[in-house]
Amino acid sequence: MNITEAAAKICQSCKKEFVIEPEDFAFYESMKVPPPTFCPHCRMMRRFLFRGEHYLNRRPDSLDGRMIFSGVPVQSPYKVYSHDYWWSDQWSALDYGRDYDFSRSFFEQFRELLEAVPWSANTVLGMVNSDYCDQASYCKNAYLCFDIDRIEDSSYLVNCSRSKDSYDLFGSFGLELCYEGVGINNGYRNFFSDDCDDCRDIWFSRDCVACSDCIGCVSLKSKKYHIFNQPYSKEEYQQRLSEYNFGSFASVKKFMDESAEFRKHLPVKYIHGLRNTASSGDYLYNTKNAKYSFITQEAENVKFLQLVPMKVSNAYDYTVWGESASRIYECGTCGMQVDNLKFCFDCWPASKDIEYSFTCRTSHDLFGCVGLRNKEYCIFNKQYSKEEYFALKDKIIAQMKEISFTDSHGHIYRYGEFFPPEFSCLSYNQTLAYDFFPLAKEGVLAQGYLWRDPDQKEYQTTVTAAQLPDDIRNVDDAVLKEIIQCESCKRAYRVILPELNFYRKIGLPLPRQCFDCRLGRRFPLVNPPVFYSRTCQCGGGKSSNGVYQNTEQHVHGAAACMVRFETSYAPGRSEIIYCEQCYQAEVA
Ligand SMILES: [Zn+2]
Ligand SMILES: [Zn+2]
Ligand SMILES: [Zn+2]
Ligand SMILES: [Zn+2]
Repeated sequence: MNITEAAAKICQSCKKEFVIEPEDFAFYESMKVPPPTFCPHCRMMRRFLFRGEHYLNRRPDSLDGRMIFSGVPVQSPYKVYSHDYWWSDQWSALDYGRDYDFSRSFFEQFRELLEAVPWSANTVLGMVNSDYCDQASYCKNAYLCFDIDRIEDSSYLVNCSRSKDSYDLFGSFGLELCYEGVGINNGYRNFFSDDCDDCRDIWFSRDCVACSDCIGCVSLKSKKYHIFNQPYSKEEYQQRLSEYNFGSFASVKKFMDESAEFRKHLPVKYIHGLRNTASSGDYLYNTKNAKYSFITQEAENVKFLQLVPMKVSNAYDYTVWGESASRIYECGTCGMQVDNLKFCFDCWPASKDIEYSFTCRTSHDLFGCVGLRNKEYCIFNKQYSKEEYFALKDKIIAQMKEISFTDSHGHIYRYGEFFPPEFSCLSYNQTLAYDFFPLAKEGVLAQGYLWRDPDQKEYQTTVTAAQLPDDIRNVDDAVLKEIIQCESCKRAYRVILPELNFYRKIGLPLPRQCFDCRLGRRFPLVNPPVFYSRTCQCGGGKSSNGVYQNTEQHVHGAAACMVRFETSYAPGRSEIIYCEQCYQAEVA
């Protein structure tokens, strides 16, 4: 087959048209899969509905009923063993092995296996003194951190790696002594700042590169001692910094508001990221031919990826992880030396040639398996010889094309589709779907998805957030005993000792919101993974909305710039969006 023309299809789910490009057909052929019947967005949402990042549920261990913390909610039908027991040789997932029934659909049988085989309570590896973390590897002294790798002495980080002594950040990498922000790359002492690369000692800044000692700055490059983009002498800058007193909550709040307002008057680049070649999407670093991808790094020849910030090549429709991953299609939470995985979830490390499997470790040649470790040639958790395995696998794939599964939305599942959302143990509001596309309960239910109300733990709070001292200098150790009432959701939260020490060392006020509310405030600062084709908003001498006056002559002269690009800034947003060339002309 040699397809040289794009084909338009109608998505089973949203009923909108989507286009499959010749390069896509080539990828599907190389992976030996049929073209998809859902559009890229609906495929992404389907994977997102399986991925919960920052919820730890108290629930009984399915072995002995002991209460444990787990990413698997108690309301789901899935069984859970504590992490250490799951990884021990005291049980075998092969005991749940079963014959394939050719008279029934694959998906129906797989769901039964999924509900029979216990899951590990947490997805963690190589953790030291880091309870209350999940989706985490090689961390030390981490507390309430999720989707993290190589983190030390930090708390409240989500989707972060290679960092230490940092608190309250999302989607950031290579941090030291950073606090409160999203999209920070290689940051040292970055506070209340977003989307900055290689910066140090910056406060309330956005979209800056290689800057230091800046307050409230936007879209600056290699600048020092600037406040709201105005230069100051070193002495004057330091004088003002100490006068501002960012150890005061009132002062922080004032600067947050001012910097948000200031940003509306300056152009921003259509994409976040650096060092990309022939790529599109957002939050991309060091990519080559990465298309429609989001929070992706060290990637080559990939399309439709989300949250894959570590080395990946030749992959489509892949959500979360990477770390030397190749030939991946329609997978979530798979990574660390994995190759040729299709329709898998939570399969890692050092695994290859696996299809339609969940929570398997260090295995190869598995089809329709759950919870296996160090296994090969298994189907539905049953051991076969190599020859039997390949013959039976081919027969099942052929049968999957004949006998389909219809989910509760009426969508048809055959070989080539990821799992139906109703197979997820999570409700919509516990997943990435909600993080990036929040909907009210009614909206979620109207779309036929599951909703679970958050735990209403009735802790007796001892102090309200408003009663905390404004200035960190007036906070004494007694605050560690307080159960603080969040100013937003009114639920309880605490301050822990390493956190208090951090605030004191830097000079930062105590937070007024609980971890969930702080995290919820961060998601709207990240553009969601939806891309729009737009035109540069440089109108020649001014931005097309007349708000920003260019400081330099651009190559397109007095006429409006006509450059088009794919951007995650939706049309109608308040930011002024410039193409690479116009943006660089202004920030140089
Ligand atoms: Zn769709
Ligand atoms: Zn709250
Ligand atoms: Zn332009
Ligand atoms: Zn321009």
